[in-house]
Amino acid sequence: MTRRVLWNGHFRRGRDANAMTRLCVALHKVGQCPHCGLRPAVTEGGTTTRLDPPCPNPAGLTRQVIEVDVPSGLIAVANDLRPLFPDAWADANANLPAGRRAITAAYAEAGMAHAYVGNSRPALVQAGRFAYYIGGNHRGLWNVLTHIPTDLWWFSLADHAECLRRAAVLDVDLDALCSFVLGVEPGRYRVVHDEGRGRAYEPRARISRVGAAEPSGDHLERFLALYEPPGRIVPEFLRREGFDWATVEDRRRALAVAADTLLVVIGSDERWHPRGWPLVRVPDDDPCVDLPGLAGMEPFPWYPLCDSSPLLAERLAPDWTRLALEVLQHMVDTGLPLEENRERAGRSLALARRSIPLLRSRLDPPPVG
Ligand SMILES: [Zn+2]
Repeated sequence: MTRRVLWNGHFRRGRDANAMTRLCVALHKVGQCPHCGLRPAVTEGGTTTRLDPPCPNPAGLTRQVIEVDVPSGLIAVANDLRPLFPDAWADANANLPAGRRAITAAYAEAGMAHAYVGNSRPALVQAGRFAYYIGGNHRGLWNVLTHIPTDLWWFSLADHAECLRRAAVLDVDLDALCSFVLGVEPGRYRVVHDEGRGRAYEPRARISRVGAAEPSGDHLERFLALYEPPGRIVPEFLRREGFDWATVEDRRRALAVAADTLLVVIGSDERWHPRGWPLVRVPDDDPCVDLPGLAGMEPFPWYPLCDSSPLLAERLAPDWTRLALEVLQHMVDTGLPLEENRERAGRSLALARRSIPLLRSRLDPPPVG
């Protein structure tokens, strides 16, 4: 018997393997809808399987309109200006249309037009006196201003003077990032982006001047002034993973799970604030909880430590350094249960022993005189 699936508008694509189709085959494995980013709940009744709540974007995500200010009249045009915009902060998956949309919105908020164009090396084309578009394969046309390299499959546009200011504050080499500077009428520019399923030569983004610039203060400075201690990040991190700090029974173990992912594992998805804490967004009114020490906890399957583990980074803020010390001390006290790879465990422990005095010295006040 074939079960009827009530998709409720969420993404579906024939029989080929994709997240939502697999969802319905596996029924209780909830996938993420690429149009809305939700993981709908699956309920079964009689002969039907139903996805709830309904998709807020049943037609898919197509056009997205953002606006950025260009008060200097110069636009830095590049593949990837992200290093200049650490304050654009979206907890989103770039592999889903809904995630890409959230990332584009976050960068627009910080003052950069940053959107997905695939591996297309698109042209930047002058389409009118104050109008441009990005996209297409227009080699040889008189009005092609440049082609944007797409190592990242996105483009980045931002006010050039603002880029220079940020490069100085953040110690980033703008020349290494920026391939082209476009002279325009100063003002506010609207970028209408369409990921499109259309043909390669169609414009992916149309850019036009909509009025005078309306600068909204120093977004970067506000971001750099932020700080979050482990007592706020850890409960939020666990909540994302489906645990509630208020009711979790073994708090030391819960802390270890969070600390392992945030501080030990290299290449985890976590991004870091320049002041040395992982960028996990915590609601303003969430309290800062007291975290337990790890001393006395039974052995924990810590990920093997290596030189580039985040907990050894020099940028680590003092509260985070204290948590890193707890982790290292617990590794040394109980060992690493890596029976299948003693050599790796041995290297981890040696590194942990060496690193403890180093991290302690960062917390101690410098000797007087
Ligand atoms: Zn959906």
